[in-house]
Parts: sequence; C-alpha cells; structure tokens
Amino acid sequence: MSKPLQRVETLWFDKGADIVLQAEDRIFRVPRSILTARSPVFRNLLEIPAEGDEIMDGVPVIQLSESAEEIEAFLKAIYDSSYFMPPPATIGFHEVFAILRLSHKYDVDYLFRRAIEHLETRYPQNLKETDMVERSTVQLPSTGPPEVVSHEFALKILHEVEALWLLPYAYYLVAAQTTLDYLMATSNKEWCPPSRRDIIVQARMCQVAATDRMLDTLTHRSNCATPDKCDLKKFAYLKQNLNHGRRFYFAAAPMRLADRQKVIKQLCPTCATAFESTYHVVQQQIWSQLPRNCGLPSWDVLGAMRHKRLYGESC
Ligand SMILES: [Zn+2]
Repeated sequence: MSKPLQRVETLWFDKGADIVLQAEDRIFRVPRSILTARSPVFRNLLEIPAEGDEIMDGVPVIQLSESAEEIEAFLKAIYDSSYFMPPPATIGFHEVFAILRLSHKYDVDYLFRRAIEHLETRYPQNLKETDMVERSTVQLPSTGPPEVVSHEFALKILHEVEALWLLPYAYYLVAAQTTLDYLMATSNKEWCPPSRRDIIVQARMCQVAATDRMLDTLTHRSNCATPDKCDLKKFAYLKQNLNHGRRFYFAAAPMRLADRQKVIKQLCPTCATAFESTYHVVQQQIWSQLPRNCGLPSWDVLGAMRHKRLYGESC
C-alpha cells in the first residue's frame, strides 16, 4: 500500500493556487502562473491538462518524477523569495544541488545561475580562491557519510548539468580524500562508474606525485649560513610526513600542505624562502594540469564554456 500523502504546509497556498504537484508522497498546492512564468518547460507541461488528471481540492494533480526532497527545495526557491538568496547568504549542499539539477531540467535560468554562483564558492576555478573554500556559502552536510561522498555526488550532478568548469576542483577533492580501496569497493555504484573511477585514480596518482615533489625539495642539502641546523629541522618534518603521510589526507592534497608553516617557521630565511617558492611553483603546475588530469579541457576552454552557458554568448 502506498504511504499517506503529506501536505507541505509552507508550499500549500489557498489564494490563487490552481494546481497540486505531487512528488513521491509529498504534495504542494501552488499557483501555476508563477511556475509557468519562470519555467518554459512547466509552461508546456501545464498548458494542456491531460484527460483523466486526478482532482484534489478542486484542482488537478500533476505527478512529478523527481524525489520529494528535490522538488521541495526547487519549489521553495521559486515561491519563497527569502529561501534561496545569492551569496553571501548560505544554502545547504543537497538543496543547492537539487535546485541546480531541476533548474537545468526545467529551464529556470536565474535559479541555475544562482546555484552556480554558490557552487563556485566551493569548487573554485582559480588557485587564489582555493583559500576561501572554507568560507563557502554551500554548507556541507554536518552528519552522515564522509565528505568525499558529497563530492562524488557533486561529480555526478555537475556532469549531468554539464557545468564542466566546476569539475576539476571537485575531482581534486575526491582524489585527495579517497583511497584506492574505497574506490574499488564503490566501483559499481551509480555515482562512480568505472570511467570516472579511472579518472579519480589517475588524478590521485598525479596529486601524490606532486606532494612528493614538494616534500622532495626538503631533502637537498641546505645552501645557507646554518645548513646543519636547517637540515635537521627539514629532516624532522620529512620523517613525520613519511611515517604518516601516505595514510593521511594531504598525501594527495598538494594544494594545501597545511602544516608547511610549521617547518618554514623553524628554517633560516634563505631556506624558508626557497621552500616557499618551490611550493608555489609546484602548486601552480598542479593547478594548471588539474583539468587535463581529470580528462577535461584546459581552464581557458572551461572558462569560455562557463561564459557561454551562463551568459549565452562566447567571450
Ligand atoms: Zn637554512
């Protein structure tokens, strides 16, 4: 037996509401004029009421195929102007992806652009912005599966809506946070088909190699006034990372050797500058190779795609 229907009170309007939308067991009573003004797809869908439509409260019921959560977030974004504001307002991770996916499917341009605006604070397109990711307006789920699962989900949806310019950093995060064991265990999941798994493995190998390259610069004999002292400090830092590094997150996360300041502070100015500059050079190399490592076009091409998709013209 099917579950009893649940009215969503915040999206159950009396005045002007002339349609009931149903997704799974949730029902929404809304004015169709707002929906059809925003979405050409809904305009076509709702133009001719199909014969035999179920009637509820005197208005026709339209069945939708999406999940109840997705439809609820999407309809809230349409009918509640305070719910989905542009950054710096915040939005939940699953909500923004629901709005992204459905605004793509139902062709609601302004919501698609706004969802992208939020997601660009989490999946940046230039190296400088990676420093601001922690202040992203997209709030990751605070409970539930590990963060990597969220980013894998992001990969799936970003591919689906063809927001390719957001993919490199999403791939980067998945590759940084995953392990090969995990990838093998999840290879049959819909979220991570074998072709995508191969890309992640490849990206991860490149990232581990880059981290090694950064750390490797610390193995050279210091060329400064206090080489013995500096060598000892570098060695201690390396030992710590070689003991644990492979198992730790940052082994494959060369964008931020977060603890590098620890060793830099202990080195003489000459050695500190040398390490810092190598770090930035390698970081820049990784960043420019990132799209290619993920089987995507270059940042420039991705930037042009973004412009065309968001503003409808080539730049
Ligand atoms: Zn030194």
